[in-house]
Amino acid sequence: MCPRARSDRVVVIGAGQAGVQTAAALRAGGHDGPITLVGDEPALPYQRPPLSKEHLAPGAAPVALPLRAERFFVDQRIDLRRVAATALDRASRTVALDDGAALPYDVLVLATGAANRTLPVPGADLAGVHALRTLPDAEALRAGLSRARSVLVVGAGFVGLEVAAAARAHGLGVTVLEAADRPLARVLSREAADHVAEVHRRAGTDLRLGEAVTALTGRGRVTGAVGSAGSEYRADLVLVGTGVVPRTALAAAAGLPVADGVVVDGSLRTPDPAIYAVGDCANHPSAHTGTRIRLESVQNAADQGRHVAAAILGDARPYSEVPWFWSHQGPLKLQIAGVRLPGDETVLCGDPATGRFSVCCFRDGRLAAVESVDRPADHMAARRLLAAGRSPDPGALRDPAFSLKEFARSPVAA
Ligand SMILES: Cc1cc2nc3c(=O)[nH]c(=O)nc-3n(C[C@H](O)[C@H](O)[C@H](O)COP(=O)(O)OP(=O)(O)OC[C@H]3O[C@@H](n4cnc5c(N)ncnc54)[C@H](O)[C@@H]3O)c2cc1C
Repeated sequence: MCPRARSDRVVVIGAGQAGVQTAAALRAGGHDGPITLVGDEPALPYQRPPLSKEHLAPGAAPVALPLRAERFFVDQRIDLRRVAATALDRASRTVALDDGAALPYDVLVLATGAANRTLPVPGADLAGVHALRTLPDAEALRAGLSRARSVLVVGAGFVGLEVAAAARAHGLGVTVLEAADRPLARVLSREAADHVAEVHRRAGTDLRLGEAVTALTGRGRVTGAVGSAGSEYRADLVLVGTGVVPRTALAAAAGLPVADGVVVDGSLRTPDPAIYAVGDCANHPSAHTGTRIRLESVQNAADQGRHVAAAILGDARPYSEVPWFWSHQGPLKLQIAGVRLPGDETVLCGDPATGRFSVCCFRDGRLAAVESVDRPADHMAARRLLAAGRSPDPGALRDPAFSLKEFARSPVAA
């Protein structure tokens, strides 16, 4: 890797969590050259997690939590351009913007995030059908919830379940249709997923597993849905929460490799040494799974942003931060450290019936992930253990007196 000059012109495309963190860390780390942050959303860069939580709470004032105050960008000499980047020219190292400008760069960081997957069924374009990614999406959904009587959520992923919990808090009837046989099937163990399903059902949500949506119905405005089992559901508001796709069009058009995200190496760099990718749009080799992964979390976006800033400043090393994630679904507080893979052995710590427990996932006999329900101490201990590459013996966890926190505090055996 050639050392970069601290006066290099850095352009970051995407002013979300990853892009803002890259720009901020770059300046904080002593970069002296121009930093341009290009974002196509009109709002000041903001946090997305509250959009499906606090922002939708009944009676709450709208919350738009800016990642940084407007003043920050001025003070830090970060040139925030609220316009879309439309093309990259790698030969001349320029980025074309939608306002006609052409930005030259020495280093480019792609932080373009992800876009909601659309629902390929008839009626998906009816009024009253919502998606949730952006602040305008959240404002429309919030207004919709205040008028709705019954809500149908398509997809029991994190966003779908958080919206389902918020809709129940509004006193609305809520049905969730999920094609898989459990909620959060892509990320959670069966033990934790079963608990999540039970919590939502206890709250009054009609959670239908193994049932996909085949059509949304209504004239102009949605009034219901048809499920793959042939059942019909009434709803005057539908939230489509069927996941996201990484925004890779710019990278692909510029000839960079793309496979479920912009393909980067262990240092988050693309095969073009002047271009990095970070956050939801980046597909990287994980030191924790031994596979290529693309993560969708604030931690991943922020840590990758910091990592690339350090690399641009000359401190290039493999990216190895422990992935972690949280989700609040009404009273359910879920935290995940590490990444579970299908086939991992699972051991329960605590009793799901108490509503406070962790599922420890082991791969080849070593701790790989911990899913904690209302056990923040386990979550913090798991993050420390995974970062240090330490693992309890799976058998030790079967002792009811075992404490992950105490184990993490115990001295490392010589
Ligand atoms: C409703 C919701 C709730 C969430 N809750 C949680 C949670 O509880 N915990 C958690 O860890 N994570 C959560 N997440 C995920 C987390 O917010 C994302 O993983 C994180 O925001 C990713 O940051 P990013 O910068 O990679 O992408 P983004 O936040 O998507 O930012 C990318 C930005 O790039 C812009 N852009 C794209 N293409 C261009 C272009 N050509 N030109 C200019 N700009 C462009 C986009 O418009 C966007 O503003 C949630 C996400 C959503 C939507």
